[in-house]
Amino acid sequence: MGKSIILPHVRYIDNGDRKGMMFHSQVVSSQGRCYTLGCDKMDVSGLCAGHKMSRREFLERYCGVEPETGTHKE
Ligand SMILES: [Zn+2]
Repeated sequence: MGKSIILPHVRYIDNGDRKGMMFHSQVVSSQGRCYTLGCDKMDVSGLCAGHKMSRREFLERYCGVEPETGTHKE
């Protein structure tokens, strides 16, 4: 509880609140600009501005964890 989760392409920052923030972390640059892969909410510099999301939602979406069984998809 209350821990951040770091994955190769996304990370989850848990502030101890009920809702944490998910950030895309794969940044690429193209023609002098940068943008974040898979992100639809970038700030002016092209970095992920963060997405409000519950920890459970993050785990289900990015870790393939189903909380009831603990199994994961390949
Ligand atoms: Zn994003």
